Amino acid sequence: MHEVSLCRSLAAAVTRAAGVRRVEAIHVDVGQLRQVVPEAMAHAWTFVVRDTGLDGAALNLTSIPAVLACDACGASAELGPELGFDCHTCGSAQTHLSSGEEFILTAIDVSDPGDRRGEP
Ligand SMILES: [Zn+2]
Repeated sequence: MHEVSLCRSLAAAVTRAAGVRRVEAIHVDVGQLRQVVPEAMAHAWTFVVRDTGLDGAALNLTSIPAVLACDACGASAELGPELGFDCHTCGSAQTHLSSGEEFILTAIDVSDPGDRRGEP
């Protein structure tokens, strides 16, 4: 369950960034190669934030495809489970991943207490 430790560090980062503001939702880019299971992540998040200031904050994951870029011919292609790390176009082994390893907190939605002025 590495999702729990991911959620713990996520919760710590969000708490630091949000301060006293109420967090409605957070948005995270997750590369396919991080092997994060969205359902497990959602479950871990609920568990980690329960009874904390982040209780009720929604976790929105965006899956980022793994893309293999070739240094030899410049081609890039999405990495599929059946394909190796050689260039799909020219067969060169001089390739690198241009995406797919992300785990990035991209946005935090907070409700500004000022917005609630005038509400009952
Ligand atoms: Zn190539």
